[in-house]
Amino acid sequence: MPYDAPSDLDTFREEVRDWLEENCPPSMRTPQTEDEVVWGGRREKFKNPESKVWLERMAERGWTAPHWPKEYGGGGLNRDQVKVLNQELSRINARIPLHSFGLWMFGPALLEFGNEEQKKRFIPDIIHGRTRWCQGYSEPGAGSDLAGLQTKCEDKGDHYLINGQKVWTSYADQADWIFCLVRTDPTVKHEGISFILFDMESEGVETRPIKLISGSSPFCETFFSDVKVPKDQLVGEVNGGWKIAKRLLQFERSSISASGFGAARGSGALELEDYAKIHVGTDSDGKLLDGDLRGRIADHQMYAKAFGLTVRRSQEQAKAGQEVGHTASIIKYAAAKMNQDKYELMIEALGTEGLGWEGEGFDKGAKMITRAWLRSKGNSIEGGTSEINLNVVAKRVLGLREHQ
Ligand SMILES: Cc1cc2nc3c(=O)[nH]c(=O)nc-3n(C[C@H](O)[C@H](O)[C@H](O)COP(=O)(O)OP(=O)(O)OC[C@H]3O[C@@H](n4cnc5c(N)ncnc54)[C@H](O)[C@@H]3O)c2cc1C
Repeated sequence: MPYDAPSDLDTFREEVRDWLEENCPPSMRTPQTEDEVVWGGRREKFKNPESKVWLERMAERGWTAPHWPKEYGGGGLNRDQVKVLNQELSRINARIPLHSFGLWMFGPALLEFGNEEQKKRFIPDIIHGRTRWCQGYSEPGAGSDLAGLQTKCEDKGDHYLINGQKVWTSYADQADWIFCLVRTDPTVKHEGISFILFDMESEGVETRPIKLISGSSPFCETFFSDVKVPKDQLVGEVNGGWKIAKRLLQFERSSISASGFGAARGSGALELEDYAKIHVGTDSDGKLLDGDLRGRIADHQMYAKAFGLTVRRSQEQAKAGQEVGHTASIIKYAAAKMNQDKYELMIEALGTEGLGWEGEGFDKGAKMITRAWLRSKGNSIEGGTSEINLNVVAKRVLGLREHQ
């Protein structure tokens, strides 16, 4: 039954509540640690068996991708229904059933630029978490200047042949497939790039995890030596990949700001205040003891509120059919700043508890915050650095001329 009229939303909410009551296992309504996060794919182990059940049930309804078209296995919900679904999931503290580059960035781009055969082949597996994707964009000499990429893709008649190297490929060693930018014409910059897909188990693909000072990391170097790729795995036109690459970055920026940093729902600010009260203490009026910290937390809360309203405005504009593409850069920039500020304040409130990294001497929650604080440093780099996003805002939103 379609739910178009606003009054139908109440009916929809009731149905969602009933369904969640019956289908969301109790252990999926508790906070999860990093090693319990489900990424899906061939190697997924499901530390908690109930997370498998939860994923399967949500995917069966298309609710891992609630707004994607039903014909490819999505939920087919409109924006209002998605909002209701998210509200109901938050209400019971339901875990996100599937973390996925496929859901966040590759799938939306494929829905826009892929042909029918590609959508039918790849989208259902993304929704069900059967295929885990990684992103082959950055190269040693092409990060912010992404269009400078050199990984070569040659047309060999019945297939393409790929040679080159990528870097900072998050989870490449865990992923099943890669969506990859390659150079199909070395004589032109932006117009010589194509967007191609291939299996990470293809002959000639090698991944080397990058070890960081803090230990192992999700980053990899990825090498391609004479990798043969069937021709039907090129998305869009040969040399037409830059348009897809940019659009995918918009999806990436929107999704990491709206959900990846976990700040868009505004809950971060509230958590921070409660959290600081616990660790720093309160006066007889229940106010945070440290007046200076109290002021900075209030500033942060105002920023978070303004951010939430900006996200909402952008969503309303999109709903009204207005072009909002470059707003993703404003939101990504602001979300990165907000998340980093939040963890700086949290670490300050933690005091010496925030020194813990591993071992029994420190509280589990404090260790998670310390790790999240360190991880937040990457927010202003991943998906386009803050400087680059500010450049986009200056040029494309404010219409300023480039500095000569
Ligand atoms: C957590 C994380 C996950 C990532 N995951 C992936 C992934 O899965 N796949 C992938 O392909 N890549 C990934 N990356 C790489 C990321 O996209 C790049 O690091 C990023 O695009 C910056 O490129 P770079 O590191 O080469 O820095 P550079 O481009 O060398 O930039 C260095 C510094 O110079 C500044 N700068 C550069 N050009 C300008 C300019 N024109 N104006 C002003 N300042 C400028 C930058 O802002 C930055 O501060 C990830 C990065 C992080 C941190």
